Amino acid sequence: MPLIRLAYASEATFEAKPLEKGIEPHVARILLVSRRNNAKVSIVGGLYYGDNRFFQYLEGEEDAVRKTYERIQQDPRHRNVRTLIEEPIADRTFTNWSMKYVPASADVQAFLARHKLSEFNPVAFDSEQCEEMIELIRRSSQDQKSVNYDEVNRKTSPTPQTLSPGLKIGLVAAAACLVVALIVVATML
Ligand code: FAD
Repeated sequence: MPLIRLAYASEATFEAKPLEKGIEPHVARILLVSRRNNAKVSIVGGLYYGDNRFFQYLEGEEDAVRKTYERIQQDPRHRNVRTLIEEPIADRTFTNWSMKYVPASADVQAFLARHKLSEFNPVAFDSEQCEEMIELIRRSSQDQKSVNYDEVNRKTSPTPQTLSPGLKIGLVAAAACLVVALIVVATML
């Protein structure tokens, strides 16, 4: 069975929930199903979500990719689905990734700045920008790097980190021990 690759752009129909951490909940659900389904039919690729728009790249056996893309196109969670690339390939290039997720990463911000783009609008990408975006997702996959909003926030926001529950318990226990030790010492004096 011949292999093909396919990239498309679309607009999310849901209103992105403001995030404190992690992945946007709609996107998280899409990823869960994508990873389950794609792994079954040996589809590999990546998904980028930013500015409430999607860029997705798929590779796999022609039949499997086309069937998956038909389902994706009918999904009410996005609209204006535009095919950007659809062509045969000799080999897969996203080994081991049923659907790599790259949300708002610093790499993508740099890519937008390099092309003087004020927002992420993949439907307007030329072929060079598409290839660059695919390479960016691919590189991210090869590094085994899980880019998420936490990472972006850590790089861009000076807000202090809160203590983990384990550390909090440890500090309270240490303080309690100190108080007990002081009481014991005081009674001995
Ligand atoms: P289920 O997950 O059981 O879904 C059943 C039906 O309910 C489907 O028609 C589905 O579209 C619909 N549905 C489920 N949740 C919601 C919801 N919250 N709101 C509205 N309708 C809903 N699927 C893949 O298999 N591989 C992919 O790579 C992939 N990429 C996607 C990328 C984007 C940007 C989007 C929006 C969807 C993507 N999907 C992908 C999901 C795809 O559109 C189908 O929803 C999915 O393949 C159906 O899987 P399922 O048959 O296991 O059905």
